[in-house]
Amino acid sequence: MSIQDQVKKAGVVGAGGAGFPTHVKVGSNAEWFLANGAECEPLLHKDCELMIHFAPQVIDGLALAAQSVGSSKIAVGVKAKNRRAIEALKEAIGNRDIQISEFGDFYPSGDEYEVVHTITGRLIPPGGIPLDVGVVVNNVETLLNIGQAVQGVPVTETYLTVAGLVRNPKTLKVPVGMRVSEVLELAGGATIDEYAVVDSGLMMGKLVADLEQPVTKTTGGLIVLPAGHTLIERYSKPPEQMARIGKSACDQCSYCTELCPRYLLGYDVQPHAVMRSLGFTASGSELWNQYAQLCCGCGICTLYACPEGLYPREACLEGIVDLKKAGKGKWKGESEVKVHPMKEFRRVPMNLLVKRLGVGEYDAGAPWDPASVSPHSVDIPLSQHMGSPAAPVVKEGDSVAKGQLVAAIEEEKLGAAVHASISGIVTKIRGHVRIEAKDI
Ligand code: SF4
Ligand code: SF4
Repeated sequence: MSIQDQVKKAGVVGAGGAGFPTHVKVGSNAEWFLANGAECEPLLHKDCELMIHFAPQVIDGLALAAQSVGSSKIAVGVKAKNRRAIEALKEAIGNRDIQISEFGDFYPSGDEYEVVHTITGRLIPPGGIPLDVGVVVNNVETLLNIGQAVQGVPVTETYLTVAGLVRNPKTLKVPVGMRVSEVLELAGGATIDEYAVVDSGLMMGKLVADLEQPVTKTTGGLIVLPAGHTLIERYSKPPEQMARIGKSACDQCSYCTELCPRYLLGYDVQPHAVMRSLGFTASGSELWNQYAQLCCGCGICTLYACPEGLYPREACLEGIVDLKKAGKGKWKGESEVKVHPMKEFRRVPMNLLVKRLGVGEYDAGAPWDPASVSPHSVDIPLSQHMGSPAAPVVKEGDSVAKGQLVAAIEEEKLGAAVHASISGIVTKIRGHVRIEAKDI
């Protein structure tokens, strides 16, 4: 079986983002293969801990993925401050021809466009993907999963950091489908009564609506903050309120654009112009929405740059949705990309970002906990990847063993297979497969 087929069979998806099915990437052809270990979400340490404790598995997965893609150039992007990770990677690389590229401690240095430019010097065309410039990028956890897939082990666990107001912040591996409330207990539980949880990052993640919801293959972290924390209040604002405040208070200072990482990399993203769409709907928001199209949603404009505390990122994301609805989702503007001369001077250092977000007191590390975790039951979502949901191949009452296929994708559809993350009995199938633990 080819590496691509093994990866597909194991249900590997991009662990660092939206869950793009990895077999599609490893079935492509590219000169460069890059491992993205440039973790930059504040308080998350999952990728760093993974590289420290599983460097041989990450590097083996990287070598296999690069072999599948036919890449002659292979590199790992990692922050220079993560010395233990770099030493572990070097040892795992040995005399293989894999370079380590050390990044500064900025946000968002893990953005795919940034990673490609920093390591290869290439600029992805507007609206394009790394493959357009002969590059494939995968997160380090995805690479570890590729290595496992080639050994016949499917994805049944996710690596994540539990941080913020919990008794013992830590990084650990838990079965896919375990409930958020139970994962928090593994870190000693929340230290306050009134709290909220942010899923997979303060900058690009989302609020956990229900503590009984399951973690998925793409969950990178759970951050517990006081319910009254400014960030939680900001995340919780209804979109209409965000738009109303923006309409009345934006003074067009353009700080949001001047600090936008995509704008500085040379793309025509102008959140201050998109903010005009809130006030000039009569003149057609389309006019302004085009400046949102290349936004990656990094959150710098909303959570760091805007002196008025407005929501330019949300205006951009809304603008992208509107453009898609109008059938104008494809970039038709300038194709030349030229790095802004001030790019290096306007980067956002992580320590300043952490202060601005008001989470400095929680930035105390989250060491690896090797304990094995065995929940009583799991709810494994059928859709935890881009594309079509997987279709169940088991029925209620079936006994399943850990690693057994429980939902498959149709041959021609984009998607990823789903496997049992614990052994037990299937007790419910409704958008997820519930398994109650039992030794099989
Ligand atoms: S930084 Fe804030 S106030 Fe200034 S243009 Fe952007 S959204 Fe408006
Ligand atoms: S979220 Fe804001 S800062 Fe980030 S890419 Fe979009 S417009 Fe730029």
